Amino acid sequence: MKLQFFGAAAEVTGSCHILRVGGKQILLDCGLIQGSRKDEERNRDPFPFDAQKIDAVVLSHAHLDHCGRLPLLVKRGFRGPVYAQEATCELTAILLADAAYLAERDAEYRSKKTGRKVKPLYTMAEGERVMRQLEGRRYRERFEVAPGVSVRFVDAGHILGSCVVEVFLREGGLERKLVFSGDLGQYDTPILRDPDPIDRADVVLMESTYGGRRHRAREDTIRELREIFTSPRSRKGNILVPAFSIGRSQEILYQLGKHYEEWGLQRYQIFLDSPMAIEASKVYWEYPHLYDEEATRLRRENGGMPLLPNLTLSRETEQSMAINRIRSGAVVIAGSGMCNGGRIVHHLKHNLDREETQVLITGYQAYGSLGRRLVNGEDSVRIHGLTVPVRATIHTVGGLSAHGDQDDLARWYETMSNRPPVYLVHGEPESQRDFAQYLHRRCGAEVHVPVPGTVLDLAGL
Ligand SMILES: [Zn+2]
Ligand SMILES: [Zn+2]
Repeated sequence: MKLQFFGAAAEVTGSCHILRVGGKQILLDCGLIQGSRKDEERNRDPFPFDAQKIDAVVLSHAHLDHCGRLPLLVKRGFRGPVYAQEATCELTAILLADAAYLAERDAEYRSKKTGRKVKPLYTMAEGERVMRQLEGRRYRERFEVAPGVSVRFVDAGHILGSCVVEVFLREGGLERKLVFSGDLGQYDTPILRDPDPIDRADVVLMESTYGGRRHRAREDTIRELREIFTSPRSRKGNILVPAFSIGRSQEILYQLGKHYEEWGLQRYQIFLDSPMAIEASKVYWEYPHLYDEEATRLRRENGGMPLLPNLTLSRETEQSMAINRIRSGAVVIAGSGMCNGGRIVHHLKHNLDREETQVLITGYQAYGSLGRRLVNGEDSVRIHGLTVPVRATIHTVGGLSAHGDQDDLARWYETMSNRPPVYLVHGEPESQRDFAQYLHRRCGAEVHVPVPGTVLDLAGL
């Protein structure tokens, strides 16, 4: 009965851990490594296990850093089921189709540029094969994954369908309960419910993305957004919102809808410039039974989700390019969330050198990504081979993050009455160090920071 840490150990992206119980091997997540080009090359490395010998995958949620290597796993021979919450299955299908499409385009581009054939990380056909192996499960329903291993998904409050995974293990006369936090949302996140409390556990694998910081209070964040949208300056230029297609895009639309009158948003043209975010929004609006109280009430009062009369859903490339001709009054929500690809890069290229431009950073930005450079306040950035001076104002709106901060993470941990030992994953070394100290001080927790390859003997706990 062992767990081995593989991806998202001592880093944020590439979430993947291997559970070995009673001769069966189960993966918790199979995520993509994201960041700089060099980091992303590591996705091509062989897995430290035989894909054909994996019996099942349990997926915490649909973000690519958790599911993005599934097509690769299937390509290398994995034929078992991928268990995920129902909404996660739908969102995963959308994300993987897009990731595969981008991988094919990227390979084409690099083949042309280098003059030698570059193979895509995986193809659209390989991405599609994963869909056939997805098996949807509801929250709070316990099901068997392999003999001696059963799983229960509970709400993680991070994006729609996101789960904390409770894993119940039995081998011989031995029983253990492992809790994998997946990505944990902030408490009081719009639309979504709070992370569910957990009874107890023998050991916890816990994310620590923002374990080293405190987000601004939600009221302050809303005030900050209000200031940005109502300032006369904003009307002179455009407002760019790089956003992950799943999660942030819907939350931002929800906030804009909710404050439409109050913030005078009729002055703007609002664009959701992402076919994938448009698809994901549909899934969001189709799962009202997963909403929190406020979203349920607003939906009832409005006869639907809060609407933006001036929202344009921009699917086609031509529509997206036309946005670049607008000099003022556009609010553009586009991916990718870390600005290392996608349509937002074009909008940044056209707007960053203008003082009137405002950029709203709403999510985590990995080292090496264009978004991280902007957050770091670099004077100029390279985009498509050009040096673009940064004259725009960059706002980091931490309160919109999909990840809980130090306090949220500890609050969730405290729902486990027996204070189990913790293994921190999904965090940069500094935040892990800070959070380990914090959690130990606040809750007396025994905290470990595994490196890739670390093996945890669950029987010995
Ligand atoms: Zn996530
Ligand atoms: Zn993640």
